[in-house]
Amino acid sequence: MSFHITEDGKKLVTVIPGDGIGPECVHAALRIIEATGAPVAWEERYAGESIFKQGIASGVPSETIESVHKTRVVLKGPLGTPVGYGEKSANVTLRKLFETYGNIRPVREFPGVKTPYSGRGIDLVVVRENVEDLYAGIEHMQTPGVAQCLKLISRKGCEKIVRLAFEFARSEGRKSVACATKSNIMKLTEGMLKRTFEEIAPEYPDIESWHIIIDNCAHQLVKKPEQFDVIVTTNMNGDIISDLTSALVGGLGFAPSANIGNDVAIFEAVHGSAPKYAGKNVINPTAVILSSVLMLRHLGEFEAASQIENALMVTLEEGKVRTGDVVGYDKGSSTTDYTDAIISNLGKKSEKWTVRDYKPLQLPQVTSSPVMVTPKTRRVIGMDLFVESPLLPSELGPSIESLLDNSPVRLKMISNRGTKVYPSMGAITDCVDQSRCRIVVRDENAELNDKQILDIVALIGTRHKWEHIEKLQEFDGVAGYTKAQGED
Ligand code: NAP
Repeated sequence: MSFHITEDGKKLVTVIPGDGIGPECVHAALRIIEATGAPVAWEERYAGESIFKQGIASGVPSETIESVHKTRVVLKGPLGTPVGYGEKSANVTLRKLFETYGNIRPVREFPGVKTPYSGRGIDLVVVRENVEDLYAGIEHMQTPGVAQCLKLISRKGCEKIVRLAFEFARSEGRKSVACATKSNIMKLTEGMLKRTFEEIAPEYPDIESWHIIIDNCAHQLVKKPEQFDVIVTTNMNGDIISDLTSALVGGLGFAPSANIGNDVAIFEAVHGSAPKYAGKNVINPTAVILSSVLMLRHLGEFEAASQIENALMVTLEEGKVRTGDVVGYDKGSSTTDYTDAIISNLGKKSEKWTVRDYKPLQLPQVTSSPVMVTPKTRRVIGMDLFVESPLLPSELGPSIESLLDNSPVRLKMISNRGTKVYPSMGAITDCVDQSRCRIVVRDENAELNDKQILDIVALIGTRHKWEHIEKLQEFDGVAGYTKAQGED
């Protein structure tokens, strides 16, 4: 990746101070980097609450977008997502705008920071897919009382994040990558990450690979976190377990992250804007400082990065200056005193902490073509038609069946909230006014075309309100849909 070099030979970085405690944390990191003399220059830009208040619904103004296009590297403070104005999170917008598809969240036991896990040598990284999954935020009210959020997972997205996890493991000399999914329940979406992981893992024979179900992963992280090295997972799972992992080593004040894409990288703490501490000069800036260490390595400034990492660890080891989240806010040092202590320790080497022998991260080269999977055969065998109806399944079923009497399709079943309710299999389902009608071809070798589908929808629409339709497709003879609970 090439960087923007200023006239005086420095690497230019876009700095977004952020909201709440953001400016205090970012200011601390900038002071420390400047004290190392690293050849980095800053271009300050804004996003988040102040921008929402100007009526810019994305929370990210064009000057900020232009700056990021130019510098391709961002150090940012947390951005608040206000309730009541502004449409989407400005954080998510930034990640999506610049396709930073991988979120790397390392945690490691810190010297001098006592936790129930002290002495167990926690040193792990969550590699979280950063743009897909439920975080695409594609939501609809299907009926006034039933909401839906689409969980979109692509083969391309999976391949990128899996390869990034393995490449990251290599760059840090790590030994294993665990893939954590809920593929036992969401066989197609979460299952796609598992299948992609299992296909790609053999290309990295130097790294041990294994799969773990995400809920057990959460359990194991609390029980025996030292067994993990790198964990790759989908967006929502990663969001949750990375807050958990930060708590294992001292809390959100200690958890840095890097959002990595092919063109742009954004470095920020895992934590948010913690508004109750804003402007009080009491918070722990370590997470943003460590994010800036990740940024310096990304910029190829390995020496400055190691210097800051060592100075931070020496400060924690000495234990003379510690923030309120570690020792209690009545006894804690100020954010500025803590920052000064780190600056005064620059050049010292920690005795208890070993800085890794980092190699530059090789970004995976995955095709930019929108089409990544091309089946040899495909066939539409029916549709799931979602209808809004106050009728009981025993009334709705016969009504749909009678409409389809003289058509090439039949009603296979109706499910309500995912459970088959017609024909009844005896389930005690508390039904709502949204039903999925699974309609399939009568002749099991036949195929449906779009005109037939539209005719069937129009026919059912003469009697029932429909709101959503999904084709039932087979790719290479394999069903591209799952069964309802209880469906045969
Ligand atoms: P939060 O800001 O992360 O704060 C949650 C709690 O974590 C704080 O109350 C505090 O715990 C602790 N904490 C966080 N950062 C700390 C630090 N640097 N030093 C010491 N303690 C720290 O989460 P939130 O209150 O749920 O979210 C607030 C806002 O931030 C929301 O608008 C949210 O959307 C936004 N947010 C932004 C990002 C981002 O920009 N990437 C990420 C997450 C959330 P105690 O109360 O126990 O002291």
